[in-house]
Amino acid sequence: MVPQEIMDEMRRIGRMLESRGLILSARSGNISMRSGNRIFIKRSGAMMGYLRDEDIVEAEISDENPEGASVEYKVHRAIYLNTDFKAVIHAHTPYAIVESMAGKDIEPIDAEGRYYFQKIPVLDVKKAISSDEVVEKIPSVIEKYGVAVVRAHGTFAAAMNLEDAFSRITEVESACMIRYLCRKGGSECSTG
Ligand SMILES: [Zn+2]
Repeated sequence: MVPQEIMDEMRRIGRMLESRGLILSARSGNISMRSGNRIFIKRSGAMMGYLRDEDIVEAEISDENPEGASVEYKVHRAIYLNTDFKAVIHAHTPYAIVESMAGKDIEPIDAEGRYYFQKIPVLDVKKAISSDEVVEKIPSVIEKYGVAVVRAHGTFAAAMNLEDAFSRITEVESACMIRYLCRKGGSECSTG
């Protein structure tokens, strides 16, 4: 049984992820929360903007492959096993995906972006979805930066609660959108 306050918070954040355009395809992305030794995570294929009670899967942190859980469960679990974070969001944030295509860490060029990030780390891995390479690499990166973008796939953010993880997702997308628009707008966009 998923506690009501966890259900409510996952539903609230899921709605915001969709309404803000932080996921574009309705069933993509995943969110999770850790409470003690339990992980609550979005069901694979559930609609992010319309999470029903049955769309949250409850697992023991010792579970390697709980039935029905998001295909990125193993990445969420690796973050919980190796850091103190209590909430993880993964979203197919369009501008961060575009800016990650070069496979290099992303340097924000605007004041807010630079305030939050010296750089936004990009994981350039062979397999981007449900990836053992991401499982291996992401904990140390996300512990240091709070975020990581998997090249050509999407952003992961982790925090002590779901709202702060959501905030990090928006901060990454804001910095990446401004970089992109600045280039396309023909302005002088110096990162120096
Ligand atoms: Zn994904």
